Amino acid sequence: MYKRIVVKLGTSVLTGGGRHLNQARMVDIARQCAALYEEGNDIVVCTSAAVAAGRAHLNFPSLPPTITSKQLFAAVGQLQLMRVWERLFDIYNIRVGQILLTRSDVENRQRYINARDAFTALLDHRVVPIVNENDAVATEEIRVGDNDNLSALVATLVSADLLILLTDQPGLFTADPRSNPNAELIPEVRKIDETLRGLASGSVSGLGTGGMTTKLQAANTARHAGVDVVIAAGSERDVILRVTAGELVGTRFPALGSRLESRKAWILAGPKPAGRLIVDAGAAEAICFKGRSLLPAGVRKVEGDFLRGDTVLILDSAHRELARGIAGYTAADLRKIAGCRSDDIEARLGYTYGDVAVHRNDLILLTD
Ligand code: GLU
Repeated sequence: MYKRIVVKLGTSVLTGGGRHLNQARMVDIARQCAALYEEGNDIVVCTSAAVAAGRAHLNFPSLPPTITSKQLFAAVGQLQLMRVWERLFDIYNIRVGQILLTRSDVENRQRYINARDAFTALLDHRVVPIVNENDAVATEEIRVGDNDNLSALVATLVSADLLILLTDQPGLFTADPRSNPNAELIPEVRKIDETLRGLASGSVSGLGTGGMTTKLQAANTARHAGVDVVIAAGSERDVILRVTAGELVGTRFPALGSRLESRKAWILAGPKPAGRLIVDAGAAEAICFKGRSLLPAGVRKVEGDFLRGDTVLILDSAHRELARGIAGYTAADLRKIAGCRSDDIEARLGYTYGDVAVHRNDLILLTD
């Protein structure tokens, strides 16, 4: 059913809620991954808990809560983490390779392709890539920031069929299960709307960076890239095997459409949007339902400072995200030509790069 599977493990899963890596948990995960591997599946593990492992390995020193302390813990802990993963996969005679990424490694198309080639090389040689953010060196500007979004990026990068986000919650609930006894698990999500985003923002998990909000963002990115996504509890018996067998465990987000071709996948998962274009109703309809390009005439407002070729978000007048695309003009140019007919572009700017603000081939819809 699924061939290429990305398994993302939150810190809460890997520590079992404690302060140390929980190796009993980790061997259980390795066992499940190994079973799938034996069946011929490609497995990519996206692991968290480097910071937690580093803190434990250094015996919980009282350091200031600075980024530098985190970098220190990550540098030490990443090694501990990999030692454990290597040993556990070794039980099953499976080799692993480490890939540490930051957002800047996928920002431009060339680097994105380089990263993809590294994954492909490992998978072609039946090596299981174990991925984390490069926390020891990643500064705020260049990091993805949480491993949920990182795993969606990886799933997009390797054209995965399935992304499993394992956490300390059984999935997404209709209300906060800690305070509301009537809260029910949502088995399947086909539409990510404001209500769902609101529900997700209320939930947190202990030690990791992300909560349900980042899981929802990750699920949204991956399903638009054609990847099925499941959020489930890492402690659930045989969870990875059951999810991959299609059993209804946790909350499932079916892929929207088929997998994106490489360039579109990069637009979706690679660069961080550098600005936003707010468009009128006519333009929203044209890009969402008619497969058209975005023309300057439909642009109401330009936010941010971006160059031609940068990624921008396209929003409707209620600020709902409609699409992501590559800007055909700089922010400064677009401010001058917003609302004007394509024929008038040259008169306004003194030059033209063509009729469109964002070409439809450079545009990925984000609607359900
Ligand atoms: N990369 C972080 C770590 O390994 C975890 C980030 C997250 O929990 O999302 O510690």
